[in-house]
Amino acid sequence: MWSKLEPQITPIHDIHVSDRGHFGTVRLNYRDQRVDALGYMIENRHLGNALLAQMADYPKVDWRCPAKVERLEMVKNGALLHCDQSDEAIKISANLVVIADGGRSDLISQLGIARDTHDYEQLGIIANISSDQPHQNKAYERFTQRGPMALLPLDGQRSALIWTLEQDQAERILALDDAAFLAELQSSFGYRAGNFTKIGARHSYPFIRVQAREQVRSNVVLLGNAAHTLHPVAGQGFNLSVRDIGGLIEVLSNAHVAKQAIGSIAVLNHYAAQQRWDQDKTIVTSQVLVELFSHANPVVSAVRGLGLAAMESLPPAKGWFNRQASGVAGRLPRF
Ligand SMILES: Cc1cc2nc3c(=O)[nH]c(=O)nc-3n(C[C@H](O)[C@H](O)[C@H](O)COP(=O)(O)OP(=O)(O)OC[C@H]3O[C@@H](n4cnc5c(N)ncnc54)[C@H](O)[C@@H]3O)c2cc1C
Repeated sequence: MWSKLEPQITPIHDIHVSDRGHFGTVRLNYRDQRVDALGYMIENRHLGNALLAQMADYPKVDWRCPAKVERLEMVKNGALLHCDQSDEAIKISANLVVIADGGRSDLISQLGIARDTHDYEQLGIIANISSDQPHQNKAYERFTQRGPMALLPLDGQRSALIWTLEQDQAERILALDDAAFLAELQSSFGYRAGNFTKIGARHSYPFIRVQAREQVRSNVVLLGNAAHTLHPVAGQGFNLSVRDIGGLIEVLSNAHVAKQAIGSIAVLNHYAAQQRWDQDKTIVTSQVLVELFSHANPVVSAVRGLGLAAMESLPPAKGWFNRQASGVAGRLPRF
């Protein structure tokens, strides 16, 4: 799909990581890292539209939308999905159900699968921001007294803002009008990315880490946020899920060739075991970053400064950071 997506993709050529008011800055450049880009930005709606358009190439896919899975009934050798499609009740049977209904998954609650949750008591403010300067394909990760903020390049002079704040601060800032919001953003972020001139629709999300205690059962597998919802500070939730999807396809293809039932618990346990290391590592890395970069405490901020200064002077450390941030450091499927 890459060639079809290309017009909507913005490559990241530089990443600037800094701690406002403290020493320690890391600058990454794609040429120094010998890669085509340090990462790529694409808006979710473009990716979604391209995925839907691609479905036309797979006539065997029985695609139903809008539809809601109301209930999942486990039956012998599979499951029965009780769905509502445009107010019509329909039933679909399957040997393997992939549950990917997000972090507040109702379907895994129905199955009685427990979840571990951690509320960061932070809200993320998300908006597209325009500046009077071209972004030159530069991404910023800026750590401020109030919490981390990321500015990621989009098409034109727009960038995507992800601003993490404690709940009461976020609510106050969200209530401001656009001009006051931009002024507050400018005073927190500074002028590295120019003068902020315009803001699109603002959205906010509570940041909660969720991990399902079981990711597989006979004839059922959990994917995406339903399996693990991460704090977005490192931007790894979707990357991790894409690697899980690749791993699942790999395991199911091998099972199919070996004439094994794709819903069998042996096959699905193999998938879960294969992905565990990558999932644990990505979840822990995101967690450490949240802890390290959400605190104004002077000791934590000194450790953070030292870490950033050390990384700036150590090219292998920069390479490691780049591989983690671009999502290619985990387990990549072998087809
Ligand atoms: C602010 C922010 C920034 C992020 N940035 C990055 C980033 O830079 N890089 C990255 O890798 N990740 C990022 N992420 C993480 C990424 O957004 C998630 O990993 C991803 O959205 C998970 O997708 P999902 O399909 O599992 O869940 P969701 O996106 O929650 O989608 C679940 C879908 O299931 C549907 N659904 C729910 N119940 C039912 C039902 N009963 N029947 C039918 N359909 C149902 C919902 O309508 C929804 O469409 C970010 C997240 C946030 C909040």
